[in-house]
Amino acid sequence: MGRSSKDKRDIYYRLAKEEGWRARSAFKLLQLDHEFNLFSDVNRAVDLCAAPGSWSQVLSRKLRGREEKGEKANGSEEVKIVAVDLQAMAPLPGVTQIQGDITKVSTAQEIIHHFEGQPADLVVCDGAPDVTGLHDVDEYIQAQLLLAALNITTHVLKPGGTFVAKIFRGKDVTLLYSQLKIFFSSVTCSKPRSSRNSSIEAFVVCENYSPPEGYVPNMSNPLLDHSYDVDFNQLEGPNRVIVPFLACGDLSAFDSDRTYPLQLDTGKEYQYIPPTQPPIRPPYEQACHLRKHNLLSREDAPSISPTQSRVEPEP
Ligand code: SAM
Repeated sequence: MGRSSKDKRDIYYRLAKEEGWRARSAFKLLQLDHEFNLFSDVNRAVDLCAAPGSWSQVLSRKLRGREEKGEKANGSEEVKIVAVDLQAMAPLPGVTQIQGDITKVSTAQEIIHHFEGQPADLVVCDGAPDVTGLHDVDEYIQAQLLLAALNITTHVLKPGGTFVAKIFRGKDVTLLYSQLKIFFSSVTCSKPRSSRNSSIEAFVVCENYSPPEGYVPNMSNPLLDHSYDVDFNQLEGPNRVIVPFLACGDLSAFDSDRTYPLQLDTGKEYQYIPPTQPPIRPPYEQACHLRKHNLLSREDAPSISPTQSRVEPEP
């Protein structure tokens, strides 16, 4: 495969590099913001599952950009952005990083500590587990991650705040909608133009955080906790929660399932641009190392820890 083959296949991948985004997913958040005006009145934002950092870049450019222009959201409050991921991420201006797990209370405490006890105005989560290819398993794990993101959000979000998260529209998605509706007065499922139609990925935009009276934030998992008081039958028939669905991104935006010519501006020769910032220590590092050295099928393949060796990304 040539260096530019991904450029040929994916217009958003190409544009991300041209505009200096670390990943094409930046466009998803930009298009969601275009539709839902996510960043107005936001001074404290949390990016869950942030690596390699394109959503944090969007937050940084939008919120700090506004601050630099003297357009602060709430009076004179300073903009603060916290990014959390299991993986290390290259630094970004104005973004504090926590290398941690979103399922842990200690991570919630670190976020609050950074905000000096103040709650966040916005929490976004583009979290995804490593996809196995087994659809039921992938959907289940994604649902678990979304619930973990919701749990940590209940620790850090202010009443009235907004939560945006990736969701897989699988067969049990209405159960997730019901759980989100317990905490937010408005839940919308949205599909940005930059998210491929062929993917079941979409995003829930949950507005106006209003937890039930007496709710105490916790990290328990309602799908595993059998004492959780939900009668699953209530979620069927007329009681099923149906949330609005909204395609977002200007209709003139590029269609992520289409192939566009490499040369968009006529007369200009296509120039390959290297990725803005590849992940610095990705979990696939060991597999790449073994494949590169033809060690994958050998029983005596050495086990290396990610800190022992750095594998440069494929060109
Ligand atoms: N939004 C990112 C961006 O724009 O660059 C891309 C996020 S990537 C699709 C998904 C991330 O979720 C991975 O970096 C992975 O490490 C992270 N993740 C998965 N499970 C996590 C967990 N339990 N805690 C923190 N991060 C997690």
